[in-house]
Amino acid sequence: MPTEEVKDGAARCLMQTYARQPISIVRGLGSKVYDMEGREYVDFVGGIAVNILGHGHPDLVQAIQRQAAQLIHVSNLYYTEPQVKLAQTLVDHSFADKVFFCNSGAEANEAAIKLARRYNHEKHGAGRYEIITMKNSFHGRTLATIAATGQEKVQKGFEPLMPGFAYVPFNDFGAIESMVSEKTAAIMLEPIQGEGGVHVADREYLKNLRELCTQKDILLIFDEVQTGMGRTGTLFAYEQLGVEPDIMTLAKGLGGGMPIGACLAKESVAVVFTPGTHASTFGGNPLACAAALAVCRVLLEGRVLDHAKRMGEYLAKGLADCKDRHRVVREVRGLGLLQGMELDIDAKAVVADCLIRGVLINATGERVLRFVPPLVITQHEIDRLIETLTAIFNHRVMAEKDAHH
Ligand SMILES: *Cc1c(COP(=O)(O)O)cnc(C)c1O
Repeated sequence: MPTEEVKDGAARCLMQTYARQPISIVRGLGSKVYDMEGREYVDFVGGIAVNILGHGHPDLVQAIQRQAAQLIHVSNLYYTEPQVKLAQTLVDHSFADKVFFCNSGAEANEAAIKLARRYNHEKHGAGRYEIITMKNSFHGRTLATIAATGQEKVQKGFEPLMPGFAYVPFNDFGAIESMVSEKTAAIMLEPIQGEGGVHVADREYLKNLRELCTQKDILLIFDEVQTGMGRTGTLFAYEQLGVEPDIMTLAKGLGGGMPIGACLAKESVAVVFTPGTHASTFGGNPLACAAALAVCRVLLEGRVLDHAKRMGEYLAKGLADCKDRHRVVREVRGLGLLQGMELDIDAKAVVADCLIRGVLINATGERVLRFVPPLVITQHEIDRLIETLTAIFNHRVMAEKDAHH
């Protein structure tokens, strides 16, 4: 189908929940994708931090092909080996003792919210149900997770919101201390706010949160849906931030593109999820788990993670140099291959300019460019991005000068 036909079909038949870029992507390889007309793009979106191993990684493709031929789905009425192997792998390489599988980030957070409520219900009684979350956070689009998300724009028009959430500014320990009460069941946050504009949590702040939570038996929940799976240079971001949570959620990169989410927890918390308390028909199905297992194996082998760490530093350096050269760049923030660039100008216009020049990037909010490429991104591809941004910013300066004449 030609691109125009695809666009017309989308306008006619799809609910209009997305503002899409005007291209139709048909295939990908490594950190590059190709549109209907055969144009090549360097992919700094990576399916929004999903395509951890890039497009068409042979290990991932082979794992999916083999598992699809053997067994795609049977439900959680039975045991399946890929689900158990994946759980073992995650448990062996994290703080957690137990895993629940689902299909997305929002569902992983739903599981975390239910787990936190039930744990508190059983241990401390019905009055302890409130979860403190951060302003500017993002936890998903289901009714519970939009209530958890501290941004009015995702909540507007869907009221009444699910009760039991309170919001505090990010990186402000004093605000948490004054919000904590007899009702507090958990504190939930992203170690790096992704959708909220790439803001990294301070180590000291996290250390204080951990101490407060331990002291009062409040559960600390890390939403690592975006920061997990090597994105920041270690398997999970918390490893670099010096603090372990009680519950952690994963999705995005976990399946390398196959839909899968996970809620991980310490044994003492996980025990309250007994048969019948939570479930998902598709959750942890063999196909999704085989894919996630392939992703884990590649990451744990080490080379891709080392590469991601080096490329993260290279990208951060390139963006920082770009900031030094261009006044429109206000700040560069991030960790590893999750980087943000705050601008003085409309970020969406820069996204559109990049697309025309063959580079896919994404904006969070009005002013922040976000870069979340596959971990296999190369130095050469990062150079392409920096050259493209440089050309766009230079062009804007020239256009402004022309406008003054
Ligand atoms: C993307 C994201 C989610 C939501 O994940 P979905 O798979 O879209 O439901 C939740 N939390 C964070 C931090 C995310 O980045």
